[in-house]
Amino acid sequence: MRACIFRATGAPLEVVEVPDPQAEAGEVVVRVKNCGICGSDLHAAASRSVKMPSGTIMGHEFAGVVEQVGEGVNGFARGDAVAVMSYLACGECEMCSAGLGVKCARMRLVGFGDVPGAYAELMKTRPGSVFKLPQGMSFRAGATVEPLVVGLHGLRRARFQAGETCVIMGAGPIGLMMLLWARFAGARAIVISELVLERRERALKLGADAAVDPRMHNPAVAMNRLSGAGPDVVFECIGAPGSLAEAIAYAQRGGRVTVLGVSMEDDGFPPGLAMTKELDLHFSLGLEPGEVETAIAVLGSGRISTDPMITHTVGLDGLPAAFAALRQPTNQTKVMLEF
Ligand SMILES: [Zn+2]
Ligand SMILES: [Zn+2]
Repeated sequence: MRACIFRATGAPLEVVEVPDPQAEAGEVVVRVKNCGICGSDLHAAASRSVKMPSGTIMGHEFAGVVEQVGEGVNGFARGDAVAVMSYLACGECEMCSAGLGVKCARMRLVGFGDVPGAYAELMKTRPGSVFKLPQGMSFRAGATVEPLVVGLHGLRRARFQAGETCVIMGAGPIGLMMLLWARFAGARAIVISELVLERRERALKLGADAAVDPRMHNPAVAMNRLSGAGPDVVFECIGAPGSLAEAIAYAQRGGRVTVLGVSMEDDGFPPGLAMTKELDLHFSLGLEPGEVETAIAVLGSGRISTDPMITHTVGLDGLPAAFAALRQPTNQTKVMLEF
């Protein structure tokens, strides 16, 4: 099969021929239809602190069609339309048996060197990571299920309630997913903090009450103007050095800060300020049982649409250039590989 591989930190991705994966007992091979490029792929390919081996196939936000079903796999058949999650659980331990695959001690991440990802024609996984798509859902929408689940998990980690307010830092894909969920959950006011004008405009179209450039305006002040108080929750969806300190500065007394942005760099922040405000600080990564099903159901019902977020699609041969372009500041949101 053809696959797009990582060679070395900072080097361009390459499209090469690699052996087709074969489904062994307990495994499923999926033919990839759409795969989103994720900010964590960009971080991993550019960061010297992440050691991805040469030949890594990245890509963990994808949907496709079941191609092969290994021995002993029940519930899936060739031709099923599916979304696939970004983790691979053992499927055998106590946690896995209880449906908590994401808490499996042998859980491995897809697309960062350990398990080959979906910047390829085929991808091999296990049934615990595979979820059927409802009739009529596009593969493009299916490929947004994984980041949509990331947003839903963030919402739940923050214990966000109807009638509350939030500042969302960053209007990239995860920031916009947070925006969709915060609206869905009944937010009273939402302020987006984002450097890029086009991204601020897209956030306003998606229902933000205000979108500010943090170099010009303090988003917490903008929230105060809207609601009479600071934000109940600050969602940090940037993951750059300094953004955690900013989130703490924007939070109000007794507020919550929920971190979804991935940063692998050392990032000092002032604990004293967080303590003075007595903040709750949450980090959000994983997913809980039922969150994938909830995200698929809400997407399938049309109550949330991720379509406006998919700003560009690209074929496998165009992926290295599209990936390199995303390393520069961009007005794009979700760029998607499409077969
Ligand atoms: Zn991702
Ligand atoms: Zn397990």
